[in-house]
Amino acid sequence: MVVTAIGVGEAFDAVEPSACVLVEAEGFALLIDCGHAAVQAVWRAVPEAERIGAIYLTHAHADHVLGLVPLLDRWASAGRRGPLALMASPEVLALLRSLFQLLRVRTGPDSPFPVSFLAAAETKTIGPFGIATAPTAHSIDNRAVALAQGGRRFACSGDGRPTAESRALYAGADLLFHECLVPAEAEGEPDHCDLPTVHSIGGPERIGLYHIRAGRRAAVKAAVRNDARLFVPEAGDRVAL
Ligand SMILES: [Zn+2]
Repeated sequence: MVVTAIGVGEAFDAVEPSACVLVEAEGFALLIDCGHAAVQAVWRAVPEAERIGAIYLTHAHADHVLGLVPLLDRWASAGRRGPLALMASPEVLALLRSLFQLLRVRTGPDSPFPVSFLAAAETKTIGPFGIATAPTAHSIDNRAVALAQGGRRFACSGDGRPTAESRALYAGADLLFHECLVPAEAEGEPDHCDLPTVHSIGGPERIGLYHIRAGRRAAVKAAVRNDARLFVPEAGDRVAL
């Protein structure tokens, strides 16, 4: 399994692409989130129209879903024919259907390539991956995701503070990407995570901190410089599991 940090930025970052992760194994590519500022980075990392077979959406905030519209439009324009699975909670799937209808993205019978909408809780496998999800504590419904393949496990938080369910999901992961908006709890927000809280997550051998507030990346990096477990990936970084 190879995990690529496509984007590591938070919602309002003027430089970093939105938080977005590509997970690949056995020739299958799955994207986690595709926000408004992630789509060009996705195009640079994955120029082929057919390569991504599934997209998991953690929640329906703009920095996690709005890149889907240009992404699907570009694939249609490039003549994609291969099927695409969109996976999320039923609530997020309903919002995506409305978004696509509003912006004339064809995903029904007239779609240039088949698009299926899969309720993540009822989806146990996608491509070569076993998939499981768990809620985090965010301002809207957000479900963290774990992907298992070949005896290895990668988990990704999306947004939000850990819950008992998401901590259990993360516990068995070899690698976790967790949002870490700010370095100190005192700067924190009730709906986002901070460095001490990420430190308290037990289980994963390594934790990549992403979705860090613009202007606080340097502080988070400095805080984990000598940490064997926590690290701050740059956009484009790849980790093989
Ligand atoms: Zn976000």
